Amino acid sequence: MQIKKEHPLERLLRRERMPHILCTGCGIGTTMANLVEALEEGEFDLDKISVVSGIGCAGRVAGYLNLDGFHTTHGRPIAFATGLKLTNPDLTVIVFSGDGDLAAIGGNHLIHAARRNIDIKVICINNFTYGMTGGQLGPTTPSGTWSSTSVYGNYEIPFNLPYLLCACGATYVARWTSAHAHHIKNSIIEAMHHKGFSFIEVISACPVYWGRKNKLRTGKDMVKFFLEHTEIKRHPDPRDALIQMGTPILCGVFVNEKRPDYLDMMKAQLSKKLGISEFRGDGKVTLPEEEKKVVSEMRPPKEIKLTQIKLAGLGGQGIALLGLIMGRAASIFEGYSTVYTQEYGPEARGGASSSGLIISSRAVNMPYTTAPDILVIMAQGAFRKYRKDIRENSIIFIDKDLVRPKNIPNSVKVYAIPATRMAEKLGRALVANIVMLGFFTAITPYFSVESAEKAVKMSVPKGTEEFNLTAFKEGYEYGRQYGRA
Ligand code: SF4
Repeated sequence: MQIKKEHPLERLLRRERMPHILCTGCGIGTTMANLVEALEEGEFDLDKISVVSGIGCAGRVAGYLNLDGFHTTHGRPIAFATGLKLTNPDLTVIVFSGDGDLAAIGGNHLIHAARRNIDIKVICINNFTYGMTGGQLGPTTPSGTWSSTSVYGNYEIPFNLPYLLCACGATYVARWTSAHAHHIKNSIIEAMHHKGFSFIEVISACPVYWGRKNKLRTGKDMVKFFLEHTEIKRHPDPRDALIQMGTPILCGVFVNEKRPDYLDMMKAQLSKKLGISEFRGDGKVTLPEEEKKVVSEMRPPKEIKLTQIKLAGLGGQGIALLGLIMGRAASIFEGYSTVYTQEYGPEARGGASSSGLIISSRAVNMPYTTAPDILVIMAQGAFRKYRKDIRENSIIFIDKDLVRPKNIPNSVKVYAIPATRMAEKLGRALVANIVMLGFFTAITPYFSVESAEKAVKMSVPKGTEEFNLTAFKEGYEYGRQYGRA
């Protein structure tokens, strides 16, 4: 008989990463095999699947699969997966990780992703312990069992993960043991077709640590234990799913229901509030027909180099709002790619406040401002803090009554406006940020007056639009004396 050299699922495995590190009898390997079989049997488009894992024995799996994957930091696979899904809505994102990674250090991400119904598929290997670091007690170690850090027996109550996830709002929740290969595979296929947060808990054999400490020394002992101590129900109640020694491990599909997922809810809300007919979540927006026409007639986006802008001042000066309006004007109404971030201290008023904006006619592949080309500074403290970022040929916008720029290179161009004084004359110092926006619009090429005005109207409190537009015009007229930078 001719022996086939290739593994039948070779195309889904990375041969160069073999042999794997998993111990003999470990349930992670069998669950990984179930995942691979599910992908094969379900005939999913492998180019549209990404696997994310965290740290621990189960965390190795992303590296063994011949799929796009991320082996991320401890406890953060769901955070990475969420970002991946929201920016690539067409991708199917699978998280494969352990109970320690997902339910302990990453517990917060887990419950909030379930609450938001983020459309990701989580396969949680629950082996009752931290296998990779030596078998310590974890948040799922059953009461009364032993681990390397509970040598007198665990007296804590573990998480009942199906109940926790159902309570948080996950829309697909199932549990099996690593002895139930067929059920795991079917659940994975079901989850792949499900739209919304899917959680499959696999009670998995770790004979080397949890098993050895609890008289189940081999993989065979553990599989026998699982098969003899499992109760599979058609509609199990998650409240009965707490794992306690001496009672059966309840398995089955606890919930499988339809509910709008996070992206659907975000699209609906943004469409309603911003008048955008489609928001994909990946930076691409589709404007209503009449808006599209206005934008294209107004000014097609022209090629500009990637520009990093830092805005800084004190809490209460509207620095964050200023960055937001600029970002909206440049992205929604001009079509540029933008990235906007905020940073502020704990104080609502008077503490440091800053925001960062990146504008480019190409895709922006950086998460925040690192080396600003332009600084907009509205307080002396902010100037002191960010002076180190001022480089040769930087451009600075300042409130001339509040900021005295010192020790800056001669090549730096400074544009100064008494924004706060002008706002006070209008009746409210609070609109100094909008005066500054008008000034900035007159001098820089990133958005037109019309785009800035639309972004102002969209961003300021209802009923204050006209007042804010007056402040904008004051700043704009002041800036016209300088001409374009
Ligand atoms: S330590 Fe436990 S969980 Fe880790 S690979 Fe070995 S058997 Fe599996």
